[in-house]
Amino acid sequence: MAASSNGAKESDELDGLRSQKEWNGIGGFLGKGKYVCCPWKKFDRPHLLDLAKWKLVIPNNSNIPDKQEELDKVLPILDIDDSKLFSPPSDKIQVTWIGHATVLVQFDDISILCDPVFREYCGPDGILKSAGFWRYRRAACRIMDIPKLDAVLISHNHYDHLENVAVTEIAERFPHVMWFVSCDMKDWMVNKGANPDNIKELDWWEGENESVKLNGRDFKFICTPTQHWCQRKPLDMNKVILAFGCPRHRGHRKLFRISHLTLYLYLLQALWCSWVVKGPTKSYYFAGDTGYHKRLFETIGNRYGPFDLAVLPIGCYEPRHILQYQHVDPIEAVSIHEDIKAKCSLGMHWGTFKTMACEFFLEPPQKVEEEMIKRGHNPLQFMCICHGETWCVGDTRKRSPYMDVKPPTKA
Ligand SMILES: [Zn+2]
Repeated sequence: MAASSNGAKESDELDGLRSQKEWNGIGGFLGKGKYVCCPWKKFDRPHLLDLAKWKLVIPNNSNIPDKQEELDKVLPILDIDDSKLFSPPSDKIQVTWIGHATVLVQFDDISILCDPVFREYCGPDGILKSAGFWRYRRAACRIMDIPKLDAVLISHNHYDHLENVAVTEIAERFPHVMWFVSCDMKDWMVNKGANPDNIKELDWWEGENESVKLNGRDFKFICTPTQHWCQRKPLDMNKVILAFGCPRHRGHRKLFRISHLTLYLYLLQALWCSWVVKGPTKSYYFAGDTGYHKRLFETIGNRYGPFDLAVLPIGCYEPRHILQYQHVDPIEAVSIHEDIKAKCSLGMHWGTFKTMACEFFLEPPQKVEEEMIKRGHNPLQFMCICHGETWCVGDTRKRSPYMDVKPPTKA
């Protein structure tokens, strides 16, 4: 809890901002349920006209080279070092960047995989395929290259953070792995092959009072809010899914039925979140995807900080007027680093997928460094590493080639 009375009041306010509010479908006709909403009014879905302008008029300055050789020079994919993954040091946090938001974090004798995405394409399949994103940097390893795994953290259901094939493969390779997901994602995970007994489904601020034993040691996994949203299909934003047909998954609410046609209407939900992991000696924060909300991140810092490592998003932020509510820019990422009291942070959510974001593709890590220096911090306390690189927090490492590459000058 925040120490000052003012801080306590603010914490209470944030507590009041629970993830869900009661939803009364068409005056109760469809039954009662819960509708997940973004508690901070600021977030709004961009207007269709804004999206069209973004696609057609706003210049895309990403300048991602087409040639793999050129990319290999500035944004190399290193070979995974199996021995490091197999025997992480017991007294440090070790992190491996697999690409975008997918990271493997190892400390206190456990290995945690965050937001697993490994395929070349992230997005819906079938006729909506063009709505997704393709990689320009492949995943640095496959699931079969990960030697051990104790827990998987899922921040939300956007395709660049959660891949169905990955869930199935992980569940097959590591049947005992623990899954940590936010509200109402359990059924989806079970449907993809995760063992229901191994899934912890938590609401915001939950998890603080429960210990999870992994490898004989006690951990706390706490689900914390972010400013973001959920969507996987055209009709499931934040999230009302209307599904017709036979009930296949456990726990779905049947809201409506015309018995002869066996027509069912279901209401499902999903929530977005970040994760705090408290181990016996180390603490870790995984932000997932988020816009900037100072009071929220300060509260997370006051309650659960300091963190030995925070993995924070730093990319996919231009144009700001559209993306600011859901994606932080590097300057705001540095603010989160301060707010949550991270001793060291690692930048992710950049350098991997061809998204619609318009910033120069190597700008995020460069701007983070610039901002850290501007604020008088040691820039080594907010690092970006290479795809496939395994790094022990605090160790010295070679400067990444992408740090000094400037965007091409406009003619
Ligand atoms: Zn997202």
